Amino acid sequence: MSRDKFELTDNIMYLKGVGPRKAAALNKIGIKTFYDFLTHYPRGYEDECILSDISALTVGEVEAVEGHLSNIRSRQARNGLLIINALLGDDFDYVQLTWFNQKYLLNTLKNGMRLFVKGKVTESYSNGNLLAMQVHSYEILDEDEEPNLGIAPIYASTASLSQKFFRTAMSNLMTKMPELDEILPPEIIARYDLMSLDEAMRAIHFPSDRDEMEQARRRLAFDELFLIQCGLLLIKQQAQDDQLGIKHAPDGRLMRAALEALPFALTGDQRSVLEEITSDMESDRPMRRLIQGDVGSGKTAVAMLALVKTVASGNQGVLMAPTEILAMQHYEKFSAMLEPLGIRIGLLTGQVTRAKKRRETAYEKIASGEFDIVIGTHALIEEGVQFRRLGLVVTDEQHRFGVTQRAVLEQKSERRPDMLVMTATPIPRTMTLTVYGDLDVSQIKELPPGRKPITTTVKRQAQRRRVYEFVMDELDRGRQAYVVCPLIEPSESERLEGVRSAEEVFEELSKGMFATVDCALLHGRMKPREKDEVMERFRAGEFRLLVSTTVIEVGVDVPNASVMVVEHAERFGLATLHQLRGRVGRGSDAAYCILISDTKNDVGVERLEIMETTSNGFQLAEEDLRLRGPGQFFGEAQHGLPDLKIADVFRDLGMLKEAREAAEEFMSDKKNLARYARLSKKLYVAYGDKFVSMQNA
Ligand code: ADP
Ligand code: MG
Repeated sequence: MSRDKFELTDNIMYLKGVGPRKAAALNKIGIKTFYDFLTHYPRGYEDECILSDISALTVGEVEAVEGHLSNIRSRQARNGLLIINALLGDDFDYVQLTWFNQKYLLNTLKNGMRLFVKGKVTESYSNGNLLAMQVHSYEILDEDEEPNLGIAPIYASTASLSQKFFRTAMSNLMTKMPELDEILPPEIIARYDLMSLDEAMRAIHFPSDRDEMEQARRRLAFDELFLIQCGLLLIKQQAQDDQLGIKHAPDGRLMRAALEALPFALTGDQRSVLEEITSDMESDRPMRRLIQGDVGSGKTAVAMLALVKTVASGNQGVLMAPTEILAMQHYEKFSAMLEPLGIRIGLLTGQVTRAKKRRETAYEKIASGEFDIVIGTHALIEEGVQFRRLGLVVTDEQHRFGVTQRAVLEQKSERRPDMLVMTATPIPRTMTLTVYGDLDVSQIKELPPGRKPITTTVKRQAQRRRVYEFVMDELDRGRQAYVVCPLIEPSESERLEGVRSAEEVFEELSKGMFATVDCALLHGRMKPREKDEVMERFRAGEFRLLVSTTVIEVGVDVPNASVMVVEHAERFGLATLHQLRGRVGRGSDAAYCILISDTKNDVGVERLEIMETTSNGFQLAEEDLRLRGPGQFFGEAQHGLPDLKIADVFRDLGMLKEAREAAEEFMSDKKNLARYARLSKKLYVAYGDKFVSMQNA
């Protein structure tokens, strides 16, 4: 099939050198179109070579030289191998070239020809004064032509597709591809000194040297980051522009009363975050703010005040928690603090919704505005729930909800409510922009005064008995303990590796050392009601030792729990370990976290050591990022953002800031999207579904 018109969306099958069979193999690695192939960027490059003088060659090295050919000869070796020899000479010296079994070369190579060759340097057997070279590759040069020292791309591939195939097909694509149109505004290209898109797309595959490759990479990475930032800003703008937000009244009597009712003074960080929230809420642009802060840093306290503020302006507020039991806990705290001030608190969880009578009453009180603040779970986003005057939506632990679910809540009122998101996931500062680029970010870094730090220690399996004796001592002192395991039940493959599951550990402890203690088991496969019951009884002190999986990560306050043991600690991410650790030390007593691990892996050991020495969640996240690289980290943190093919948020941090800055400027002029249609189209393709869900949900 011949095609005259070239479209990047064409089926890869029609590229010269591909065809149906190779196309099928490419499809398997996600390459369906010319464009997919073009953006299948090399995962590395074969080493750049330096042109040497023949007199400077070193035996054993792979080197590159150029010169003129003479004395071309061939002979048949005893084993049938055809050997071609020739001399290559530059101004000072000669080297003997050798090709094996390439008969056709006898027609190609001519005496007097100028040649550029790469190959391995050896001693010569036939001529003791000369060095020899086994030729890996050669290029015939015109008299005035510069040899191409270029580096060869290496592609992520599969067994059926060779590097040679990729290189040839890619080179065919380059030949066929007309000059690519620029998509970035010229000002941005000039300001950040970027290569053109066309040049970059070609050079990323076939750079002439490392420097050109770096320039190409930089340009393509910039595009990715710039597009993400534009997309996030677009989401933010759409949310803020298509409706005016609620202009909250300045603080009055009720806010003062709430501040006085708090049993503590706000920390400096809490105060400044509250100020940022206050000014957002009093403006008529809808607030979209994230509060980032370690477990226990006092985010909920700030959110509570923001909810009081919306009530003081005659609105309703809503707080959505990730689990029923957390919602209950918030509900109790809020009721105790705010009901005396005349604020009516409602609860809407699955449990409430399941009982028809209770559900109807709750829906009614929400719709009529009888509840000022409603606290709940996913049950809040069900269809029947309508608010009378929703002024503020707070979601707790945002990584458990998608952008879309948040959007649904925002739609439950005629006007667009302000929005506040709380997260304890310690995303490194360096990544906040990428992951939360559609939100303004406030951070609470200091913990409320008087917190005892949690003593964290790493122990080996051999010390397990001693560890549990220590736990027993704590229980004897009236405290409670958590034991966390990476798996729920014994799995065949894991058992081989000696990994203990929660069920096994529970059996072992509750029948062994802790036979006289009330123990309980908690994991994610239990029914929500069972989980809540176990957690509730643990909180009430009926259970003293709780063996569980990470379900307790987003947890309930049990101030009396003073010690946590984590089995096979190397199997958890640092962020998770830190979140888990936050479950103890909620009271005023000394608290302990003991990480059991036999890992011998260097990175594994270093990560656990960091847990011992660092109690700051943000610092810890930065370290984790450094050790594990951004891929894994980013994967966990991002929600539905397009994958980065070439940018690396860690390495390209400086560029991320530039891209953000450029995106802010670009998006601040509404006409730009119309002016740069190709860019807008790309944006729409990447983010269009999000706009739709924001608007129609
Ligand atoms: P987070 O939501 O960040 O996990 P919370 O708001 O639940 O934190 O606060 C954790 C605990 O610290 C709660 O018991 C809360 O009452 C208490 N607390 C919050 N702010 C302060 C403060 N400024 N001083 C003393 N205690 C505080
Ligand atoms: Mg919390």
